[in-house]
Amino acid sequence: MSVLKNYINGSWVSSVSTETVDVINPATAELLAKVPYGNATAKDLNDAVAAAQDAYLQWKNVPVLKRIQPLFKLKQLLEDNQEEISKLITMECGKTLAESSGELQRAIENVEVAAGAPILMQSEFLENVAGGIDEFMIRQPLGVTSCIAPFNFPAMISFWFLPYAIACGNSMIVKPSEKVPLTMMKIFELLHQLDLPKGLVNMVHGGKGTVDAILDNPDVKSVSFVGSTPVAKYIYARGTANGKRVQAQGGAKNPVVILPDADIEMTSQIIADSVYGCAGQRCLAASVVITVEKNDKFRDSLYETAKARAVGYGLNKGTEMGPVISKESKSRVESLIAEGVKEGGSLLLDGRDSKVNGFENGNFIKPTIIENIPLDGELIKTEIFGPVMSLLHMKTIDEAIAFINRNKYGNMACMFTSSGSSARRFRNEAMAGNIGINIGVAAPMAQFPFSGWKESFFGDLHGQGRHAVEFFTQTKVVVERWPKEWSRKF
Ligand code: NAD
Repeated sequence: MSVLKNYINGSWVSSVSTETVDVINPATAELLAKVPYGNATAKDLNDAVAAAQDAYLQWKNVPVLKRIQPLFKLKQLLEDNQEEISKLITMECGKTLAESSGELQRAIENVEVAAGAPILMQSEFLENVAGGIDEFMIRQPLGVTSCIAPFNFPAMISFWFLPYAIACGNSMIVKPSEKVPLTMMKIFELLHQLDLPKGLVNMVHGGKGTVDAILDNPDVKSVSFVGSTPVAKYIYARGTANGKRVQAQGGAKNPVVILPDADIEMTSQIIADSVYGCAGQRCLAASVVITVEKNDKFRDSLYETAKARAVGYGLNKGTEMGPVISKESKSRVESLIAEGVKEGGSLLLDGRDSKVNGFENGNFIKPTIIENIPLDGELIKTEIFGPVMSLLHMKTIDEAIAFINRNKYGNMACMFTSSGSSARRFRNEAMAGNIGINIGVAAPMAQFPFSGWKESFFGDLHGQGRHAVEFFTQTKVVVERWPKEWSRKF
């Protein structure tokens, strides 16, 4: 099996590293590729930065209306290759084909919004701030930017950043997750067809070795990271200490509150999609479901909906949930379920030790519901990142909101209710960056920042929309005097 190449300075080149890791289909256990790994990949990264710096120096002076033209072609290419890219996402990441194509659609929407850069980059001007003096602000690109992606959205996450970075006049280096590099390989084949200046977009594979080289190379001006909280903290600390602009999205433990006046059928269906979609491996997956007042009807409905979910290979028709990413991940999630039981939780639905006919080597865990885990235990604080619902019952909304606000993460919080005033109070008081009201996955569309609070985000400006344009530009304020007496008479 050949080793994947990097894309540097407009060409596909082999890594200098001889170390590799395997890319494995999580449903079939088939070896899909080998990807460069290890500390030697730092040399690849530094080569990419040198090329990206040269490209940036040309690109920053290209008018913004010209810079966005390749984005229109990119949108078309992504749409034309939608089927192939979606298949690749499913093969390396495990999600269903419908989830993969939904993910790609979200990536495309970011290309569309970034094409608004000629408007989004505009700034402020004030005439006569003092007698005969004008003042204005301009936005200029940063230089070489970088993006470090997680495994769970092989296509979409880099697009929270890449189209904005280049539309704003920067160059970029993408480091895909070593677990799912094939989708980005295909996307870079499409980027290659755009006739961008050589070195404007680069892809360097690897793990910590590549990341540390990004964090330490003085020509890399910004880092956009998405992944787990410990790594986000590390990247934020080391990147900012080295003077870089950093935005680092971390992990999550998302609570959902169901009030007694919510619609039972709709709510159960939406919550099951949120908890079990992408096998629970979404940073916006509902993880802790709280019914206010113990409500057996909801409990029964959540149970029935979870149990009915069809688990299997994402490429097969009818599959509603695929496997988790790796054997290690399966065993980690199963041990966390066991830990919850040890702490006093009771299993309403146990998806451990699951086998799917024809895919006996796949990393399948079926939908699981664990009820009444203690609020002072470990599981209630731990991101599970698998198809597991922790079901709690509380007496009042106040108790539920207080619980949410103690959560160390703040990626998302949702409420299901038919009361506008309860919803309004929740929206105002819940301490999370993305709020859903009768919504199970409150994922901001590309026009809005992908928010996130507390240990789910380190930085100031988020990905997508106007935040991305602000992140990928630095402001310069100009104060100008042009005395009247200097004007020439014609
Ligand atoms: P991860 O943190 O293990 O890896 C993310 C990236 O960091 C990868 O490219 C990886 O190569 C690199 N990396 C891993 N360990 C490193 C280290 N020690 N030093 C430097 N770099 C390192 O995350 P993952 O398992 O790929 O993704 C799942 C996590 O991402 C979950 O915690 C999930 O909640 C989070 N996530 C968050 C969001 C969000 O918007 N907040 C979105 C998607 C995923």
